[in-house]
Amino acid sequence: GANRAKNVLILMSDTGGGHRASAEAIKDAFRIEFGDEYRVFVKDLCKDHAGWPLNNMESSYKFMVKHVQLWKVAFHSTSPRWVHNFYLAALASFYAKKVEAGLKKYKPDIIISVHPLMQHIPLWVLKWQGLQNRVVFVTVITDLNTCHPTWFHADVNRCYCPSEEVAKRAALDDLQPSQIRVFGLPIRPSFCRAVLVKDDLRRELELDPELPAVLLMGGGEGMGPVKKTARALGESLFDKELGKPIGQLIVICGRNKTLSSSLQALEWKIPVKVRGFETQMEKWMGACDCIITKAGPGTIAEALIRGLPIILNDFIPGQEVGNVPYVVDNGAGVFSKSPKETANLVARWFGPDSEELKKMSENALKLAQPEAVFDIVKDIHGLSQEQGVISQISSSLTSSFFIPSPET
Ligand code: UDP
Repeated sequence: GANRAKNVLILMSDTGGGHRASAEAIKDAFRIEFGDEYRVFVKDLCKDHAGWPLNNMESSYKFMVKHVQLWKVAFHSTSPRWVHNFYLAALASFYAKKVEAGLKKYKPDIIISVHPLMQHIPLWVLKWQGLQNRVVFVTVITDLNTCHPTWFHADVNRCYCPSEEVAKRAALDDLQPSQIRVFGLPIRPSFCRAVLVKDDLRRELELDPELPAVLLMGGGEGMGPVKKTARALGESLFDKELGKPIGQLIVICGRNKTLSSSLQALEWKIPVKVRGFETQMEKWMGACDCIITKAGPGTIAEALIRGLPIILNDFIPGQEVGNVPYVVDNGAGVFSKSPKETANLVARWFGPDSEELKKMSENALKLAQPEAVFDIVKDIHGLSQEQGVISQISSSLTSSFFIPSPET
């Protein structure tokens, strides 16, 4: 009935790449925009309802980022469509029952996938259950530029792309213009709509009120050359001639406890704050003047909203590599793997090259899409209201699933 709250099931997996952050952002935006009209469940469906290897995705991801070559091979070797379709077909038939149980439990009116591997199986199960015309299925892509083809599925009602580049790839992969929308990467509402004043934030966070500040981080797990970069900044931001610092450093280590304790043990000539996992990133970013990070899509999109020039110092091969040109080609930052080079650049930005820093900050703000998450939930709301009208989902799925042909 019209008054019943609708159920929204967000499918994610905690495999980095900002999937959880995007899922939580969408959930919050639904509540802000529509209150009780929607009940939103965020579920790691694979973890809760399927067995190996899907429930191992998280730990194998963490293992693989530590073994970069292996990750490279895994990512690219599953790229040709017929390979992953065949692979997924085998998985789908094996896990369909468990996925089905998950769908039965949450009775979703709307399914939102924020994960590259969560299109095929749920869509297949919906079709198999004859539910594909009653459930709105959308994909929210969390890669800014390069995109694994498993993100794209012709049977979705919408595919939300964070950038024009991703939208182009979606179109090449046979999605229709009516299925594609480009609103930007969904970022937590607390982030996008916060009205923040740098001076107030610095007081609140107990930072130096005057010195320019650089934020150094490496995603939720504190990855990349954080420690070496911190040490190099400790040198480059200290003016030996004047015997005083020209900047301050904030290191956010996320869940990497080893990193935070080893940084805390060091002695510094400049003001340094070492923090663990922070829940109010908008404040830390709002208090700083530039950021050094690995190329995580969440961190990048957030930094753009705060107008922070970005030095990218690392990326996860495959999924994050495309985020680098997205930042660099748009003039919002630079890429450097060398901690020393990075530290010297920050020192120049805080000294003679302050104009460059300002220009990059302006470019960052131009790229920012703070309203993306609200645009996405409003569009989904529209789809949900049209539900029943838009029911001509293509029917090519079952056949292509079981007879992998060379041209698909
Ligand atoms: N983050 C956070 N607190 C921390 C460290 C990171 O809230 O202490 C957030 C960060 O703001 C971003 C997400 O974690 O939203 C990291 O996502 P990203 O896509 O950058 O990288 P991932 O860690 O998912 O590979």
